[in-house]
Amino acid sequence: MNRPADSAAVRRTNLSRVLRYIEAHGPCARTEIAAATGLVHASVTALIADLIGRGLVEEAGATVSGGRGRPRRLLRIVPGRVWTVVVQVNRWDIRLRVADLAGSAVHIERAPHRAPAGEPEPVAEAIAQVVARAVAQADGAHLGRVVIAVPGPVIGGLVAAAIPFGWGATDLAALVAEHLPDLPCPVELVNDANMAALAEYHALAVAGTSHPDTVAYIRADVGVGGGLLIGGRIHSGSHGMAGEIGHVPVSLDGPPCKCGSRGCLVTYLGLQALTAAAGLGAFTPGQDAAAVRAELDHRLRSGDPRALAALHDAGHALGAAMLAVASAADAGEAILGGYLADWAPWLTPGIDTRLTGRRTAMSAVGFAVSVGILGADATLHGAVHVGRDRILDDPTAVPTGDSGAPATADCAPPVSIGH
Ligand SMILES: [Zn+2]
Repeated sequence: MNRPADSAAVRRTNLSRVLRYIEAHGPCARTEIAAATGLVHASVTALIADLIGRGLVEEAGATVSGGRGRPRRLLRIVPGRVWTVVVQVNRWDIRLRVADLAGSAVHIERAPHRAPAGEPEPVAEAIAQVVARAVAQADGAHLGRVVIAVPGPVIGGLVAAAIPFGWGATDLAALVAEHLPDLPCPVELVNDANMAALAEYHALAVAGTSHPDTVAYIRADVGVGGGLLIGGRIHSGSHGMAGEIGHVPVSLDGPPCKCGSRGCLVTYLGLQALTAAAGLGAFTPGQDAAAVRAELDHRLRSGDPRALAALHDAGHALGAAMLAVASAADAGEAILGGYLADWAPWLTPGIDTRLTGRRTAMSAVGFAVSVGILGADATLHGAVHVGRDRILDDPTAVPTGDSGAPATADCAPPVSIGH
């Protein structure tokens, strides 16, 4: 005999299957959903009635197939019924994106913050202010989740360490929630590089890339980080740091690194190392990283010999780190993000030189290098993906209609407050 808990779980799973199908293939008819999910027609009808009651699905006209039989009523999702609020926090600013159930942005904001290093509380307050402004516009949409992407490993729901801020283990989600006592949904922390890895992986797949089982995502903005994907899912490792490639040693006697080791990848590929090698003078924390990147970019595009040599040498170091991850994790692909994607044309010769030996000796074992296509938005896209998944996995998290009229997509026009 099934226990109630089991039948509730089965129902949740079946609601998820139906909602995911309609989200991916709608408008579609009940017969099509039944055929695709393997559920009997009566169950599909009951599950759809439930989803309609929660405001997640609506009727979308009718179609007659082949000119015979009764018209089949079509169904589609109601994108504006659920909002996911995602936040990316960096050392100097907060970026926010609100997405509907279809993943489309309905609200975008970028706000500088002046929170000093060392204490998480001022950052939490700044995040809460940005979230509160977005939530105030929800107007009937159910708030599914607030997802906060942080520049540090996340273990057990805590920021284990956020080096740019000088924090140790921090329950940032709880600190933010304290400022938002009326928030009707959970706050979830995620690692920013992992979110970018997830987003680029899916975006490249949609664009036609066929990924191997294990993929390393490597990105640089000021420092160097990344993530490891296995079977399309983030593999976080023992301490939430799998794929954090910046401190892979690529030289036995290389420059000393902040981590206490020598010759780490970041000492060749980090912005500080690149600008010094390119003759821009040492980049120091507190300098405007975007302006420094723009200057180096300009020199690369105008053919400055020192800038080109700096990127060529950095490509060698990156290639060595790729060999490490190819060997240790059996990764079959590396995806480049951040300025590594922007500057791939100048890094690639060095990377190829380093990979040539392996490609020749192990020709049956492929290793591809892909360039990310989402730019600076990759982390936010990945966080939206995670937030939407929470609803698509468990539609019962959305209350039935008595909590207020479901918003339609038309009720939530895109709102942008600066970029
Ligand atoms: Zn290091």
